[in-house]
Order: sequence, then C-alpha cells, then structure tokens
Amino acid sequence: MLAHENKIDRCNICKHEHTTNYVEAKPGIKIFVCEDCIEAAKYNFIFICMNCGKVYLRPKKFVISRLSIPELRSAYLKCEDMQLIQGLDICMECDPQGIAEYMNDRRMTGNA
Ligand SMILES: [Zn+2]
Ligand SMILES: [Zn+2]
Repeated sequence: MLAHENKIDRCNICKHEHTTNYVEAKPGIKIFVCEDCIEAAKYNFIFICMNCGKVYLRPKKFVISRLSIPELRSAYLKCEDMQLIQGLDICMECDPQGIAEYMNDRRMTGNA
C-alpha cells in the first residue's frame, strides 16, 4: 500500500519532513508519509482528518485492549502488523456533532 511519487512533498502526518512516499488513505487521495511516520505506523494506528488535516496517533496495543466488541477487536488485530493510515472524512475537532453520527454509521455498516 506504500507507493512512491516522483515528486517530493511534505509529510502529511508530521507536517515537517519531506518525502516521496505516500499511501492512498482513500481512492485517489494521497497522504504523504515520511520514514519516521511510517515507523510510527508500526506501533500506532494513524488517522488523518481529510477535512481539517488533523492527525491522530493511537497506540495499537491500547486501542485493541479497549475494544469490547469481538468482531471489531479481531478486525483490528488483523491490522496490528500493517502500517495503516486511515483517512477520516471528519474528526471531533472540526465537527464534534458530525463525528458521533459518522461513527454510528460506520458501526452499523460494520466498516469501523
Ligand atoms: Zn512525517
Ligand atoms: Zn477534522
């Protein structure tokens, strides 16, 4: 899922390093990610808000230990070894009301 662009862009995660590595958070949406942030993605789930650009890092062990829904837990366990960067349409910073509905939708359709 990690690919290379032939131009250099600023890392979308730390907004500091420059890199040619990118992942597609959603089809057609490139998230540039530097070596350091790829390394961080081994131990953290990384979420990036496509609306405001805010980045959330959550330690994988912590996230998985807090999941009480077995299906959700096994889905996340499968991702434990992946370097996953997920794009969110909105986040709690830019739309606190929207995020509640968004998470509810995802839970109902099982895409969380
Ligand atoms: Zn970075
Ligand atoms: Zn946001």
